[in-house]
Amino acid sequence: MTTTAIRTHLDGQLLTPGDAGYDAARTVWNAMVDRRPRMIVRAASPADVVTAVRVARDLALEIGVRCGGHNVAGFAVPDDGLMIDLTPMGDVRVDPVRRRAHVQGGALLGALDRAAQRYGLATTAGNVSHTGVGGLTLGGGMGWLARQHGLACDNVVSYTMVTADGEVVTASRTENPDLFWGLRGGGGNFGIVTEFEFDCVPLGPQILAGPVIWPMTDSGEVLRFYRDWIAEAPDDLMTIIVHRKAPPLPIIPEELHGQPVVMVICCWVGDLEEGERFLKPLREFGSPVADVCTQKPYLAHQAMLDPSFVPGRWYYFKSCDVAELSDEIIDLTVERCLQIESPLSSFPIWQMGGAVSRVGEDETAFNGRGAGFTYNIGVCTENEEGFERERDWVRSFWSALEPWHQGVYVNFLGDEGADRVQESYGAAKYARLQALKTQLDPDNFFRINQNIPPA
Ligand SMILES: Cc1cc2nc3c(=O)[nH]c(=O)nc-3n(C[C@H](O)[C@H](O)[C@H](O)COP(=O)(O)OP(=O)(O)OC[C@H]3O[C@@H](n4cnc5c(N)ncnc54)[C@H](O)[C@@H]3O)c2cc1C
Repeated sequence: MTTTAIRTHLDGQLLTPGDAGYDAARTVWNAMVDRRPRMIVRAASPADVVTAVRVARDLALEIGVRCGGHNVAGFAVPDDGLMIDLTPMGDVRVDPVRRRAHVQGGALLGALDRAAQRYGLATTAGNVSHTGVGGLTLGGGMGWLARQHGLACDNVVSYTMVTADGEVVTASRTENPDLFWGLRGGGGNFGIVTEFEFDCVPLGPQILAGPVIWPMTDSGEVLRFYRDWIAEAPDDLMTIIVHRKAPPLPIIPEELHGQPVVMVICCWVGDLEEGERFLKPLREFGSPVADVCTQKPYLAHQAMLDPSFVPGRWYYFKSCDVAELSDEIIDLTVERCLQIESPLSSFPIWQMGGAVSRVGEDETAFNGRGAGFTYNIGVCTENEEGFERERDWVRSFWSALEPWHQGVYVNFLGDEGADRVQESYGAAKYARLQALKTQLDPDNFFRINQNIPPA
């Protein structure tokens, strides 16, 4: 098919090198990624997705699928292939009576949060509002509501998807249940999701949330206290520990800007008075240098970390789950974090458990429900300068944690090879996913992703 013929079939746009908008469309969150697709279909409808799949088949082009463009390895952008850019399909429609959100395959988390909160509703999404619903949900989807309501994928009721043959199918508990299982954690391996239907719950608008901050030199004592305190925490509380140099944000006192700190970022979504009571011991522990944990709108908290993960910088991360924060792990963490150099590097340790751990291990393709904490050791620099040193720091810290590794969350993987993808799913789930892939995509048409090749 010629480009002219393709254009006549599309509701959206076809971009080729040299076209206005081509460079913007191929640019993703991580500025390290610089690939040049032969064509970009900016899909404006499910029919455009079908057309793009057929064009790629006809021209034997590799495809990449883009939603928020936040995969750290830039899998959305295929060099010399066909990129299916779903961002024009970013609408969210909420049915307040059935408490359901119908989310198009190219939507960003912020759009989902805003649309749901208009009716006082929410569902688990990630922690940075410009991340895509597509990639995040297909790999699992951890967010501030995960301990109370499960992962993003646990709240999906149905998927509408275009297959490798260009057919449109739906998957739910009752329709194509095997595919439904696989889509709940199996990533972009089975097709292109044009619509997610999410269950929502009433929430907010006010919650109790934000960071309590200590000097990083106190981190050893803070984390030991935190570990014991959190063991009794109800599911209404989710926390993330961050080690970094304090950013120059208005919420942080000026004298702290650039100083190494440890923060426990809290998100309490239950009764606010009960939350104030539960959080008191943490806020009174030691000598915090700042406490910006406060009653605020849920939507504000969902965008709080956006300035720390600005698109267009150089990023790298490497991740692992651990069962617990033992003394050895705490000591290692403090020692390594004191070596962080870049003022832009920000490294989260996620508290897991709660509703995530109560979903049956075999119910979804997502693996790692038993994890205690998830380390996503990450770094960031403005550009190439100083990046290699930071990346070496990540690799060395990650290796030092190896004795305690317990699997890895697929969405925190970079381009780390087939073994790491297998490790992420575990042998039994990986075999089941491979069988599903063999059935649905025997040619491995969807392969630029955390790939599960057909058996
Ligand atoms: C700043 C930042 C914050 C993050 N925060 C969180 C977080 O809070 N919780 C969490 O769980 N993860 C988080 N992540 C990890 C995130 O889940 C993954 O990077 C995910 O791949 C991002 O999805 P995306 O749609 O933005 O990325 P993209 O690069 O657009 O997509 C990634 C891959 O997903 C697949 N894909 C995307 N959309 C579709 C679709 N509609 N149909 C089929 N396949 C699709 C494709 O295979 C694609 O290659 C974060 C990442 C970053 C960079």
